[in-house]
Amino acid sequence: QAAPGRGGYAMYTGGQEQENTRRLALMGDLYSAIRDNELELYCQPKVGMATRKVCGAEALVRWRHPRHGLVSTMEFIQMAEQAGTITPLTNWMMDAAFSQAHSWREAGEDWALAINLSAHDLYDPGLVDRIRGLFSTWGIPPDRIQFELTESALMTDPAAALETLVRLKRLDVKLFLDDYGTGYSSLGYLQKLPMDGIKIDKSFVTPMVSSGDSEVIVCSTIDLGHNLGLDVVAEGVEDQATWRRLEGLGCDIAQGYLISQPMPAADFPDWAGAWARA
Ligand code: C2E
Ligand code: CA
Ligand code: CA
Ligand code: CA
Repeated sequence: QAAPGRGGYAMYTGGQEQENTRRLALMGDLYSAIRDNELELYCQPKVGMATRKVCGAEALVRWRHPRHGLVSTMEFIQMAEQAGTITPLTNWMMDAAFSQAHSWREAGEDWALAINLSAHDLYDPGLVDRIRGLFSTWGIPPDRIQFELTESALMTDPAAALETLVRLKRLDVKLFLDDYGTGYSSLGYLQKLPMDGIKIDKSFVTPMVSSGDSEVIVCSTIDLGHNLGLDVVAEGVEDQATWRRLEGLGCDIAQGYLISQPMPAADFPDWAGAWARA
């Protein structure tokens, strides 16, 4: 933090410069990490609340830096987004996710895999064609791949975003509005989007049993979603009490540490087998 006076300012500048240098170095490393295949695909299960069955997983990227160890996903995703260079990472993730979804099908599993898209991806004119190419390469039924998009990504340029969503829907993929509740989209805007579902942000779900305000928001979001014909996913389900409350409210799908932390994709089938037996 900057202390008042000249000395404080100098210190602040030094810290800022150091931080900028560190971030620049990390960004450089990220692109060689993508090239050298140092990123890892993690999967976090999604479970149907009524059936208790695993219906799929969210694909989450992990980066194990050879010197710094595991880098915070939030940090390097945000950095890549701010630098406007998320595309190589998105492409890496899509390749990894389609290949993973293909092996699941070979093993006879029907799980859907959800891929996160960033704002920048939505405005990338090559995105939809690349996805179409992946479907023809891997032969996966379109509804087995989902995309999660945040409200803030859509709000950057709503008209252009809507166009991309419409083109994606023509491929028959499933679209989910991510982090619902953290943005400012109006009901009118939501209705215009070709969404299949919404994910209620964990900042409302995790504290909902102890905080009346959060519970009201979760409850009305579930109703809103259902009234619009959408599937509702709750993320950040961390305990039994929250599961029971969500079940009572008719929430469709749950995701969170109560069910499992994200795990290396290779561990997913064994985990799902154990879940089914439990
Ligand atoms: P997100 O899309 O909202 O993903 C959910 C995040 O919540 C994940 O963090 C997950 O590990 C965490 N989480 C899951 N269950 C719980 C829970 O019960 N409690 C709590 N406190 N947290 C839980 P993660 O993996 O660190 O990812 C952070 C964010 O980074 C993601 O948030 C997403 O916005 C972004 N991200 C991750 N992978 C990708 C990717 O491949 N592409 C893009 N564009 N973004 C990604
Ligand atoms: Ca997500
Ligand atoms: Ca989310
Ligand atoms: Ca989030």
